[in-house]
Amino acid sequence: MTGSSQVELLARVQKHGARQAVVATEGVFTYAQLLQASGGVAAALLQGEKDLSERRVALLAPPGFRYAASLLGIWRAGGLAVPLAVSHPRPELEYVIDDSQASALLTTREFAERLAPMARERGLPLLIVDIARLHQAGSLPEVAPGRRAMILYTSGTTGKPKGVVFTHDNIRAQMTGLISGWGWRPDDYILDVLPLHHSHGIIIILLCALWSGAVCELMPRFEAEAVWQRLAGGGLTLFMAVPTVYARLIAAWEASSESRRAELSAAAAKLRLMVSGSAALPVSVLDKWRHITGHVLLERYGTTETGIVLSNPLQGERLAGTVGRPLNTQHVRVVDEKGALALEAQPGELQVRGPAVFLEYWQRPQATAESFVDGWYRTGDVVVKEQGVFRIMGRSSVDIIKTGGFKVSALEIEETLREHPAVLDCAVVGTPDEEWGQRVAAAVMLRPGGSLDLEGLRAWAKEFLAPYKVPSRLRLVEHLPRNPMGKVTKKQVVALFEQ
Ligand code: AMP
Repeated sequence: MTGSSQVELLARVQKHGARQAVVATEGVFTYAQLLQASGGVAAALLQGEKDLSERRVALLAPPGFRYAASLLGIWRAGGLAVPLAVSHPRPELEYVIDDSQASALLTTREFAERLAPMARERGLPLLIVDIARLHQAGSLPEVAPGRRAMILYTSGTTGKPKGVVFTHDNIRAQMTGLISGWGWRPDDYILDVLPLHHSHGIIIILLCALWSGAVCELMPRFEAEAVWQRLAGGGLTLFMAVPTVYARLIAAWEASSESRRAELSAAAAKLRLMVSGSAALPVSVLDKWRHITGHVLLERYGTTETGIVLSNPLQGERLAGTVGRPLNTQHVRVVDEKGALALEAQPGELQVRGPAVFLEYWQRPQATAESFVDGWYRTGDVVVKEQGVFRIMGRSSVDIIKTGGFKVSALEIEETLREHPAVLDCAVVGTPDEEWGQRVAAAVMLRPGGSLDLEGLRAWAKEFLAPYKVPSRLRLVEHLPRNPMGKVTKKQVVALFEQ
């Protein structure tokens, strides 16, 4: 299993042998146990066949050992893994199962009942991973690293979610860029609190840990108090999450007693690295986190299609509001509206190429073709590069607002509005307007007990937003529905303004 034409991650898992690999509610497991369980899953999937030959296997499992064993098991059987979201309602699950043309559903007892009717209606086998009942694998196929490995579904700005297809080589390149960029080591210990249907939780955390021979502890779901408790328990070296997670950890810390705060801060300070990404990190969150833990969060940028592209440095200064430089596995360029290379400090679309970039959108050749230009993947994100360091201005479609002929970044206005003492959170979108092209619509969520009226906000914004020339075009929405994370999201705001 260690030949150069083999999947290197699997060879590494084998090599890490007796080291601890996964800590989860199911228990503590070594790499040898992970390899053995994955072999059992592969055998159960193959049912005596030689090779799944990239047939899709949809996987619904809680974050934990059985998830990790299943993912590796699908690969060892030569299958194409399609992780499903545990939070998704039935129609979304069915969409992914049907769109990927899954040939089998792999799950655990927790979700078996939920998937059973879907399997029945489609005549698909439903396999339940039960570690105690897995049989030893017979012979498994040789899997070449150029083969397709995984499909992750991602929502674009338009249309239904698309399946992003990665080969084993793509995933390998995504991991190796991060391993060297962030100095992953065998003695690292990371806590994964993210859902395992998105590359952040799967590739950036779980698989990088397994590649390195590190320990990955998986939490069934994110809960701020439980994470603080775990941090206080000690032993962790790494933590990676989205900005919302940090914001909620900050809120929980602020709600703690003085003595507890000191204990939590001291525990978090012991980690060697804390990373934020997958959405813009508000400078206020960065500042508060530094105040609480002493950590300057390492902000990085990536997309499902490319993996992580840009990262602040492990060593050296991390600049607030920037996402650093390209990882050593990524090639990038910035292209202006006319398709020419953007000049220093000029905004343009970030385009990416290299071995980490996805193979294709599953069965959507046209969408695949449209997302590349001359072999470069078009991220749809507008960036500015200054002295080699990148700043994300926002999605060209959603976060870049054209108002009165000026392009303004919704993210920057959000950043400013969050500094208002009455504002807890906000989301800014462009809404169609005859006079201005687009008006800047700000939906604002107030702090408990905070109050604000439109005139007050405008007056305040006049001073703070003067450089953006937008204050007269602000709108205020007071009563916003919150999503399950207690956040205001762009989608909600767009929907509100469309009503
Ligand atoms: P996803 O494919 O779900 O990972 O989403 C990728 C998108 O998230 C990118 O195209 C960006 O719009 C956004 N994104 C990721 N990281 C950052 C960041 N550090 N700052 C701002 N936006 C980000």
